[in-house]
Amino acid sequence: METKILAADLDSLKEAARLIKSGDIVAMPTETVYGLAASAYDTNACAKVFKAKGRPQDNPLIIHICDIDMLYDSVEEVPPLALTLAEKFWPGPLTMIFKKKDVIPYAVSGGLDTVAVRMPDSKAALELIRLCKVPLAAPSANRSGSPSPTCAKHVYDDLNGRIPLIIDGGECITGIESTVLCFTDEGKNIHILRPGAVTAEMLGEYASVTLDGAVFQKPADNAKVLSPGMKYKHYSPKAEIIIIESDNEEKLAEYLNSHIESGAYAVLYGNEKNVLMPRIDYGNTAEEKAHNLFSALRKTDELGAVRAYVRSPEKDGIGTAVYNRLLRAAAFRVIKI
Ligand code: AMP
Ligand code: MG
Repeated sequence: METKILAADLDSLKEAARLIKSGDIVAMPTETVYGLAASAYDTNACAKVFKAKGRPQDNPLIIHICDIDMLYDSVEEVPPLALTLAEKFWPGPLTMIFKKKDVIPYAVSGGLDTVAVRMPDSKAALELIRLCKVPLAAPSANRSGSPSPTCAKHVYDDLNGRIPLIIDGGECITGIESTVLCFTDEGKNIHILRPGAVTAEMLGEYASVTLDGAVFQKPADNAKVLSPGMKYKHYSPKAEIIIIESDNEEKLAEYLNSHIESGAYAVLYGNEKNVLMPRIDYGNTAEEKAHNLFSALRKTDELGAVRAYVRSPEKDGIGTAVYNRLLRAAAFRVIKI
């Protein structure tokens, strides 16, 4: 199969909708990362998504909606707090988990009775959902385990020959996947399963917020986790990733300079001085780091890196999300200097 890339205009979106309505799958841009979309009501199409990605069957898909009616079509109960959050953060990088209706197949929910829902803040994605007239189940459009795709080329590099069409909407603005949360205490409070650009601090204005233990820790083998995605190795380029935590730039440079060897790279903020190791900079602010993290990880592969030392991001705000992805890319290896 030849994979086409088309700019995100109305004609291309119509072609994408035609493919999806006929049971096929298409990569679409969103503000977080590129998604691999299928009709959320079509078990066979969703199976194609798992196959193209090589995704474990028990890792559920997020469904993407374009209006609130689609939420009520897909889920049993919507707590008032969810509506408040929807009003405030949708369209945007927030995914909420609800009890699913029967129209959502277990292929989407990974066998669970719940379903994760979000309204993306991307004109192209919203228009595509509108044209399809059904919610679109869409995980990140990468091969399972590799860094998430933040531009059409990343999708092509991973899925060329496995999907018919990529809609090219340019670089994703946020660059990191959505915040995933579930409700606790009969819908009154919030438990974050995956951090994202809608931060714990932002959500804390509306309810009390807890962070799942799996956000910063490796779940034990066979542990029952609330968010199945958290138990898999994720976001990894071929190079070995090691997180370096340090506030002391002199010591950081000293450490990196004493570890220079063929294939070793440093992934840094950009303002560090005296580092002699070849470097890729991923940004000064936490937002820049979120935007650039996955392309920096992919860049290590392009450069043929064997090992990459990545300077730890901030651990608050959106930095929490960047650190969460990096921990998994690094298989939880952290060196503190
Ligand atoms: P991705 O498709 O790569 O953005 O990953 C989707 C994330 O949402 C994974 O971490 C899933 O485990 C999580 N997720 C999706 N649906 C559910 C659900 N019903 N319950 C808990 N986590 C979910
Ligand atoms: Mg993913």
